[in-house]
Amino acid sequence: MIYEAAAKARKPLKKRRKKRRDARPRCQRTRCTRPAVVKLDDGGWCKTHARVLADTLAREIVLYRDGYCCQRCGKSREDGAVIQWCHVLSRDARSIRWDPLNSMALCQPDHFFFTVQPARWATFLDERWPGRIEELHRLRNEAARSGTKPDYAEIIASLRSQVSGLVDLR
Ligand SMILES: [Zn+2]
Ligand SMILES: [Zn+2]
Repeated sequence: MIYEAAAKARKPLKKRRKKRRDARPRCQRTRCTRPAVVKLDDGGWCKTHARVLADTLAREIVLYRDGYCCQRCGKSREDGAVIQWCHVLSRDARSIRWDPLNSMALCQPDHFFFTVQPARWATFLDERWPGRIEELHRLRNEAARSGTKPDYAEIIASLRSQVSGLVDLR
């Protein structure tokens, strides 16, 4: 009886604490205490960590597409090259940051070369992929005009399905 009464007395407190936690779900990243504003099937993420996740997925898709080879010199990891995930237009443009059209694999020296030689970068893009940069400008401007913010849940879901497609090919 005594135990029962004690259990009853504790119950409301327990319930209240649980309710508060459920009402404000947190980002699932370890040690992150920000609210989970990006909600996915397997849990929520804060915006910062949703972007980190989207970056990881997009990088995997693009490096796989490019065969883990530098798109300028053709060197790969097997040749000892450091292969990086590089953007055609700045990754600051979030509307196209995770669009595979807007990034490619480059080795570290070529990435650096193009970063300091933007005119050479433009020429390289025009020669290899005519129309690519124009299409990206169009997509970026369209998003800027419409003022739509990126939907991280949608972006991550789409990237995840693309990644699972890659696994099937392997
Ligand atoms: Zn977080
Ligand atoms: Zn290279």
